[in-house]
Amino acid sequence: MKILVCVKQVPNTNEVKINPKTGTLIRDGVESILNPDDDNALEAALQMKDGNTDTTVTVITMGPPQAKEVLVECMAKGADDSVLLSSRAFGGADTWATSNTIAGAIKRIADYDIIFAGRQAIDGDTAQVGPQIAEKLGIPQVTYVERIISCNGKEVTVRRQLEDGYEVIQVPMPCLLTVVKELNKPRYMSVKGIYEAYEKDITVWNENDIPVRADEIGINASPTKVFRSFTPDPKGKGIMIEGTPKEAAAKVIGELKKKHVL
Ligand SMILES: Cc1cc2nc3c(=O)[nH]c(=O)nc-3n(C[C@H](O)[C@H](O)[C@H](O)COP(=O)(O)OP(=O)(O)OC[C@H]3O[C@@H](n4cnc5c(N)ncnc54)[C@H](O)[C@@H]3O)c2cc1C
Repeated sequence: MKILVCVKQVPNTNEVKINPKTGTLIRDGVESILNPDDDNALEAALQMKDGNTDTTVTVITMGPPQAKEVLVECMAKGADDSVLLSSRAFGGADTWATSNTIAGAIKRIADYDIIFAGRQAIDGDTAQVGPQIAEKLGIPQVTYVERIISCNGKEVTVRRQLEDGYEVIQVPMPCLLTVVKELNKPRYMSVKGIYEAYEKDITVWNENDIPVRADEIGINASPTKVFRSFTPDPKGKGIMIEGTPKEAAAKVIGELKKKHVL
């Protein structure tokens, strides 16, 4: 089986702090990490590969040259090889242009059975790229995959997370699955894996290497543009409510009614 995993390098947003004077994000010293959901996507692929010598896992990322770091990390965990899509022409892409680029690379790879992606990236936060890639490749997709029940080489049966339960879906391959963190616990890199990762291939492609047109990629092709970005106002100070539990509950209800929450 041939498995592809789409991974994104993201700033570790848990560590982003706001400059109280200027109100802007402090980005200096914020490390870049493998997007957490993508780590689960990779783990799912590696579990399918464990013990199956005929299964290969290729990771794909679109990003600047330093995005190679996450590819090396994925290969140190056990991926066989990787593709970096890097070019100034890809820069400033919104999700439509991003998915065109990644789908273009996958069209060139051509031979695949399952594509894994994370549900969502913690920086852009749209959860659009996975489904758009599936659409552009003309293959079925299942999003929010929280369990892989079986895979017989022709179909995959998965459990898809819903707000109030789950649904079991059988999907023919090739297909694209986006995964949530409940799916598994990602493995760590091994020392042997880290050494071996540097021996593995990173293929670097630009817009001339993949079947995409100039009007499908990068900022100029993006139907959406970020018009303004700003740091949200900090939440107001909390208030302490005094009194017996009954009095306090009445005050809370009064406050919520005033704010039209209730
Ligand atoms: C309206 C809008 C305008 C934007 N404009 C700009 C801009 O001007 N400049 C700019 O730099 N960015 C811009 N972005 C951000 C850019 O579109 C996103 O970083 C990118 O498209 C991925 O979307 P996301 O982060 O929401 O990923 P999601 O859709 O949340 O990611 C889901 C999954 O898709 C896969 N994936 C996502 N991105 C990649 C990738 N690059 N490589 C491989 N796999 C990936 C991963 O598996 C990931 O878990 C914009 C976004 C929006 C919504």
